Amino acid sequence: MDRDQIKEHLRFAAELGVDGVSRDPAWRSRPEARTHPSGPAADDAPGASLLAFSKNPAEALAAVRADIGDCTRCKLHRLGRRQIVFGVGNPEADLMFVGEAPGGDEDIQGIPFVGRAGQLLTDIIEKGLRMPRKDVYIANVIKCRPPQNRNPEPDEVETCEPFLFQQIDVIRPKVIVALGTFAARALLRTLDPISRLRGRVYEYRGAKLIPTFHPAYLLRNPASKREVWEDMKLVKRLLEA
Ligand code: URA
Repeated sequence: MDRDQIKEHLRFAAELGVDGVSRDPAWRSRPEARTHPSGPAADDAPGASLLAFSKNPAEALAAVRADIGDCTRCKLHRLGRRQIVFGVGNPEADLMFVGEAPGGDEDIQGIPFVGRAGQLLTDIIEKGLRMPRKDVYIANVIKCRPPQNRNPEPDEVETCEPFLFQQIDVIRPKVIVALGTFAARALLRTLDPISRLRGRVYEYRGAKLIPTFHPAYLLRNPASKREVWEDMKLVKRLLEA
């Protein structure tokens, strides 16, 4: 981890109520099994609240959402967004999809991927992967709709992406699917286009990351569904590994 990542990690921990750290190795190790007791952590060792949250992703996600609040951190809040579109799905999902930014339908409903592209994503999940959509987690790199669905600008991404990183760190999915050039570039810190990035597995924040075409691109280029199907077979294999 570099200095900025450590600072970001400590800031997040503080927001979750951690008021100290311990050199005790038991405190440092993360639980192997995903047990999610509904009550608070039994011990009151330093950092117990962080452990409690790491055992309860739903509460941790709620804390991230509460931190975002009625966000005014970037200019999108005064450029016509109706509401923040945080994310939807299972807080303990093994599989997470990351898109670009909410569009018009998402801005109205407050839920990612509910428009035409969203219906295609739902089909990819339910008919392709044969999983209920509610079992995966879906979020975007930025949480507010850009005006006229323009591409998010660098300052907007820089301001908003730490919240996506926190969502990923809380959910700890086995596999992340980056939907489209924009999400893949933002996550992998590259300028390569999706056509160059896809077809490979990347290590990313403890998960396997698979870049694939964005459903909106597939609506315009249905022939590329074949490649997405190949990518989904790879996702399935990684989930079962
Ligand atoms: N496109 C995205 O990237 N995200 C959405 O939520 C909807 C469309």
